[in-house]
Amino acid sequence: MIYWDHAASTPPYDEVIQTMAEVMKKHYGNPSSIHRMGEDAAKLIKKAREVCATSLHVKPSEIILTSGATEGNNMAIKGAALQYAGRGKHIITTAIEHPSVYDSCLDLQKQGFEVTILPVDGSGRLDPASLAAAVRKDTILVSIMHVNNETGSVQPLAEIGHALKQANPLTIFHIDGVQGFGKLPVHLDQWQADLYTLSAHKIRGPKGTGVLYKREGITLHPLLSGGKQESGLRAGTENIPGFVAMSKAMRMASEQTEAFMKEVGALKGALLDWIRRTPSLELNSFEDGAPHIVNVSFPGMKAEVLLHTLEEHGMLVSTKSACSSKTAEPSRVLLAMGRSEDAASSAIRISMGMTNTQQDVQQLISALETAVKRLQPLRQEGMK
Ligand code: PMP
Repeated sequence: MIYWDHAASTPPYDEVIQTMAEVMKKHYGNPSSIHRMGEDAAKLIKKAREVCATSLHVKPSEIILTSGATEGNNMAIKGAALQYAGRGKHIITTAIEHPSVYDSCLDLQKQGFEVTILPVDGSGRLDPASLAAAVRKDTILVSIMHVNNETGSVQPLAEIGHALKQANPLTIFHIDGVQGFGKLPVHLDQWQADLYTLSAHKIRGPKGTGVLYKREGITLHPLLSGGKQESGLRAGTENIPGFVAMSKAMRMASEQTEAFMKEVGALKGALLDWIRRTPSLELNSFEDGAPHIVNVSFPGMKAEVLLHTLEEHGMLVSTKSACSSKTAEPSRVLLAMGRSEDAASSAIRISMGMTNTQQDVQQLISALETAVKRLQPLRQEGMK
């Protein structure tokens, strides 16, 4: 089997697995306990926080340790909305955000906030000028992703941050960085980010852990009531093995970003070349997108059928994103990019990592060629 679903989750580094086991075995105290086992656990969290902060070039006090990006995005969006509702009730996001952002904004809409959902162009990019035009005096929050999880499209975050802060310096800028960290350079300062979310299992860390960066001076309304962990922002006993292991994955992913761009980018290049040479396929990802995601439509075919046909050939790809693959509707992201219903329902996502090779790509291409030939008659039937 060859795994082509790295945007859904990644194989943990051996070091991550070893660290999890070691910390679980030896350091099981509760960091809130005041005896030495508690202190020992608290020290581990302190160190993990420092490593996460260093990987993002921010201060340890600006790091909130979470259970992943779903929690981080909810905490950022709902926490900021509730905290700053007195200042205004207008929120801006885009049509291609992950459900943990998109649906958080829709939840707030039901609670009386006004949400503007900005469109993107055919390559999945937001025009910074359209954001500037949408920002108002009462805009308290703007949430925009770095890299789209279905297509790999990359937002021009420096231009967006600049346009936003020019239009309203008080508006909080949240970035969902899940698919960008470790894959492309991250410049929180240059982007003028106030909040930035990560999930560790997308960077070969453990599931159920993540980071929310919160710039000094920003306050959030806590969503959980209980203990005073994470400076009162996230009640509940900390996931110490997960956080220590995540900090290792963050360090390794940030150190390997350049290698990732080069090596995985070359795999993507080879696959794009084949797709371009193959008539009737429609590309939904581009050269200037993230190095690890290729989204392609097979008009007239059913994405699920294609996925299972590829699986029979040992290739594990996905339809849409893992979070939305179980819904029957065509991809919201591809429709927002102006693709037809047919293109949006016949798209598969191939997402790669450093464990893939050029040989794997060649095997994938021959599996795709066989699958397309096999499904061709069905396709013509479907197109009638
Ligand atoms: N944002 C993006 C862009 C994602 O790709 C994902 C994972 N599919 C998330 C948020 C949510 O991450 P998690 O499932 O780890 O909570």
